[in-house]
Amino acid sequence: MQTQILSPSPRQIERAAEALRQGQLVAIPTETVYGLAGNGLDEAAVTQIFAVKERPRFNPLILHLAAGIPLETLQGWLLDLSAFTPVAQERLATLTNTFWPGPLTLVLPKSTLVPDLVSSGLPTVALRVPAHPVAQALLQALQMPLAAPSANRFGRISPTSARAVYAELSGRIPYILDGGPCAVGVESTVLKLSPEGIPTLLRPGGIPLETLEAHLGLRIRLPAESTGSSAHPRESPGQLSSHYAPSKPLLLLPRGIFQLQPADWQQIQSQSLGHARVGILGFSREPEKLLQHLQPHFPAATLHLEVLDPDPSLAASSLFASLRRLDEGAATLLLAEPPPLQQGLGHAMMDRLQRASRPWNPLPP
Ligand code: AMP
Ligand code: MG
Repeated sequence: MQTQILSPSPRQIERAAEALRQGQLVAIPTETVYGLAGNGLDEAAVTQIFAVKERPRFNPLILHLAAGIPLETLQGWLLDLSAFTPVAQERLATLTNTFWPGPLTLVLPKSTLVPDLVSSGLPTVALRVPAHPVAQALLQALQMPLAAPSANRFGRISPTSARAVYAELSGRIPYILDGGPCAVGVESTVLKLSPEGIPTLLRPGGIPLETLEAHLGLRIRLPAESTGSSAHPRESPGQLSSHYAPSKPLLLLPRGIFQLQPADWQQIQSQSLGHARVGILGFSREPEKLLQHLQPHFPAATLHLEVLDPDPSLAASSLFASLRRLDEGAATLLLAEPPPLQQGLGHAMMDRLQRASRPWNPLPP
């Protein structure tokens, strides 16, 4: 199959819409990352999504919706909110009124119309209203929900440009709609709301936890608190400890590059032995200083630096593109600095880097 990249003109958007109506898959831009979209109520299309991505069936999909659909309409269509208390109804209305369209996914009790394949057999479904104008134009034309996980092969780095989607899925899908680089750059925040109105964070993402707490006026439980495990497969089956991974080994540094201790350097040097080219993802507004500080610790290696802004909301939009460049470049070992601020989007970036990285080998005795 030939994969064609479409410009987001009204004519090409209609072409993509027609393909989706006929049960085909189209990669679409959203403000978070590019999605691999198919009709979310058509089991055959959803089956194709899992096949094209090589995604395991236990990992549920998010349904993407056109903006402006009232909660009452969703209730009779995709959701079954009959057990929701008035408090839960009120919190749901606050969340949707404040954050939709935007990078917030809500996990809610599903109706029987939603295929079990979409929810991996769970009684809940994940819904989101993307803010990207091209995604919205498409959804408005379609009037059906689009299941759209990130447009990469399973476990790999999420694509934030049409070119990155092409590198992942060329030959597997007919069309990629090019909506430019993604503004947010990390996936949506996934929040579950119980029938009693208790929110649980299932995945940090594009909307900071602190922002959600401020609008709800309460603390949000983290999944570790509710299940006692950081893998929390019960509450959120797709949150695997290894994900978003480059094909080369990526090691997450234990602290900021300027804070590394002699023992840390010993560990890093033992790990980078034999690597003539080392890729480094750092956070700085002075890349030259960073390089000057790093180079003496790697006397025999050429360093390939990708530098992100220390401000997490600026860095997030470039995180996956930087990882992808390091992965495609000549370095054979990658090192990443933890984001200096782990609030706001820094929380989501740290989560992605932890899943993208491998554990350190123990130091030889
Ligand atoms: P993505 O991989 O970006 O498509 O996001 C899908 C993720 O949302 C899954 O991997 C799950 O972690 C989460 N998710 C989707 N549906 C549900 C659900 N019904 N219950 C819990 N988590 C869900
Ligand atoms: Mg993904």
